[in-house]
Amino acid sequence: MKKIRCQKCAKTIKRPQDLITVFFYFRIFFYHETCYEEELQYARFPFTNLIPLNTLLSNIFTVFTFLAALTFLFTDTGGTRLLGLLLLLPALYRLISYLKWERTFRK
Ligand SMILES: [Zn+2]
Repeated sequence: MKKIRCQKCAKTIKRPQDLITVFFYFRIFFYHETCYEEELQYARFPFTNLIPLNTLLSNIFTVFTFLAALTFLFTDTGGTRLLGLLLLLPALYRLISYLKWERTFRK
């Protein structure tokens, strides 16, 4: 099992159900669930909020953006391919979070 340290308290996250992975400024950070909730209280501006990657809501958001990305990529109506590529980013970060951290942490 990989050792993952919480970004806020710097303690090792021991239980997989406590792990919250967060996308923030093109990096992935790790929090205890309780530390993440505390950190959310200090997020000031909507666009700089910490975005969790491994929650149910995030998974639903990822599926919708991925489907929208495929739609934009394969229906060429002029200039929509760039939007399609941008909409692939949430799925890419979710995949990286799962394959690199969550999957190995649960073993
Ligand atoms: Zn913590």
